[in-house]
Amino acid sequence: MNQNKVLILNLFCRDKNINRDMAGGLGYSAGDGVILPPLDLLIIASTLRQLGKKVFFVDAIAEGINDFEVIKDLIVKERIGILIGNLALPTLKEDVEFYKKAREEFGDIKIVVKTGINYKEILVDVFEKSGVDVIVFAECDLDIMDYIEGKKKQGSVQKIKGELRFFPVKERFNKMDLLPVAARDLAKNELYKYVLLPEGKMTTMQTSRGCPFACCYYCPYPLVQGKKWRAMSVLRVIKEVKAIVFLGIKNVFFRDATFTLDMARTEKICELLIKKKIKINWWCETRINVLSEVLLKKMKRAGCLGINIGVETMDRDLIRIEGKPGVTLDDVIKIRNLAKRIGVKLHFLMVVGLPDDNALSLYNTFKYLTELNPETMGFTVITPYPGTEMFKEAFKKGLIKNFNWNNFDGSGINMRTKYLSRIEIGLAKHLLSASSYFLKRNLILKSFGIFLIDKIFRIWILLRKK
Ligand code: SF4
Repeated sequence: MNQNKVLILNLFCRDKNINRDMAGGLGYSAGDGVILPPLDLLIIASTLRQLGKKVFFVDAIAEGINDFEVIKDLIVKERIGILIGNLALPTLKEDVEFYKKAREEFGDIKIVVKTGINYKEILVDVFEKSGVDVIVFAECDLDIMDYIEGKKKQGSVQKIKGELRFFPVKERFNKMDLLPVAARDLAKNELYKYVLLPEGKMTTMQTSRGCPFACCYYCPYPLVQGKKWRAMSVLRVIKEVKAIVFLGIKNVFFRDATFTLDMARTEKICELLIKKKIKINWWCETRINVLSEVLLKKMKRAGCLGINIGVETMDRDLIRIEGKPGVTLDDVIKIRNLAKRIGVKLHFLMVVGLPDDNALSLYNTFKYLTELNPETMGFTVITPYPGTEMFKEAFKKGLIKNFNWNNFDGSGINMRTKYLSRIEIGLAKHLLSASSYFLKRNLILKSFGIFLIDKIFRIWILLRKK
């Protein structure tokens, strides 16, 4: 096998459509309308090419490859010496099986796993079961070869003199401008899609990492990327956007946890996109308190079609205290109205089952959502991602009822909360999802659906009081 030949693989997942890049890199089930490229892997691919390696890239999910034999044939035919793949929570079992099989077939290749999971017990278990050479959960964009050669250790699991060791992350990568432009030319960009962007070639890009906000209590982004926000300069962002456009890609989903955290920087990015006449349709994700009228207008002019906005709950107290500390319901209403007037769509990201959620707070969420009627909304079930404060607390209190990681995909109901059983969390999720369905139907259907959901909520609250 040739150590100069590397296969970079987004592993298949047969069970369901999981995007391993989502939930900060822990994996998330976003439904059939979303297939995103594995951005981390494409950046690593770029670094390896710069080091003179011959890189092969396969996105088994996007390309619909479900058969180990296809990957095996490629490794044999090309005499691949290094295999780099990913690993996520909801696909953990399947991923481990894949690596185990690869190890059995190929005793002499290096097998490297890149993951967002940084929970010791899980990773040590994966390492032991799969027989891989190293698992890296640190940012290894530039120094992947150091991990492969055993020269770098922080943020990895590997064997040192025969002893299995877990090395926590010590420092975060801080020079975002040094990142190579992701090797999107290796990917079949026409296979990717994001339901909220128009059809046609699409890709993702990340201009910053980390998130400093207090919702890190339950959120996987700070867990995986750290709380310190680190960003590319405006010029570095434009350089990569130009490279994307050069590939004929017109749809870009910016995957930063909080794209507009530095509003002045985002304004400058928009200004340059406009000035240089770079025409892309783009979508991003951010927080209510880092948006303004001026910024929204510039974003619109620069091609922004919409924003995923973390709202979580529309209960007046819960949003302020727990859902989005520092944000009020009035802030949400204000931004919703502004965005509507300016013509930027909002996709509300909601979560069902915050630790202090109850029947009444969920009903309040339903009422305000019905009133505000955002263009689209998505409901995630509270997920105790291993390593978050919420996980630790829920674990201590015995609230987590299911430890099958396969179910940690944003829809699985794995814990109960102080006030809600798992059945109630499921009921609320269905009621809220149904309300978003009815809100987009004709007047008769909408009135009937909303009336019915309102009644069910009221009965639930009454029963709860008894
Ligand atoms: S602002 Fe968003 S990404 Fe940042 S911690 Fe809160 S929920 Fe997570």
